[in-house]
Amino acid sequence: MNEMKPVLVAPCGMNCNLCSRYLDPSKVPYPNCPGCRPRGRGCIHKRGLCKKLRKAELAFCYECEDYPCEDLKALDKKYQKNYNCSFIEHLDYIKKHGIEEFLKIEKEKYKCPNCGHYICVHNGKCYNCNMKLQGDQ
Ligand SMILES: [Zn+2]
Repeated sequence: MNEMKPVLVAPCGMNCNLCSRYLDPSKVPYPNCPGCRPRGRGCIHKRGLCKKLRKAELAFCYECEDYPCEDLKALDKKYQKNYNCSFIEHLDYIKKHGIEEFLKIEKEKYKCPNCGHYICVHNGKCYNCNMKLQGDQ
């Protein structure tokens, strides 16, 4: 139940395991989103506009000759500001240490203190026990 799946780390470094769209069955307009990769339509943030991601030519954005592109930098900035999380930091870590190590860190970082599941990166909520973390996450 509380295993984070490697396939749920998107090419951009977003951890879909922690996404409200993935975790929240009532989320509009994407209830029960399967995650960016299983969804198979390219990058949700870019609405399929990155050809390389749409054709699945890259497993992760860091493999791209344009890495980090302006779009990724803008997205990274937004997530740093709003959710205290950096996709570029994620990607650099994955490149260096691999996906399993990355998920180990994520599991600790987002572990729910109440039930041991993990909390959503977008709203600080644990969808397993409904605990909401205080703070501005
Ligand atoms: Zn919990």
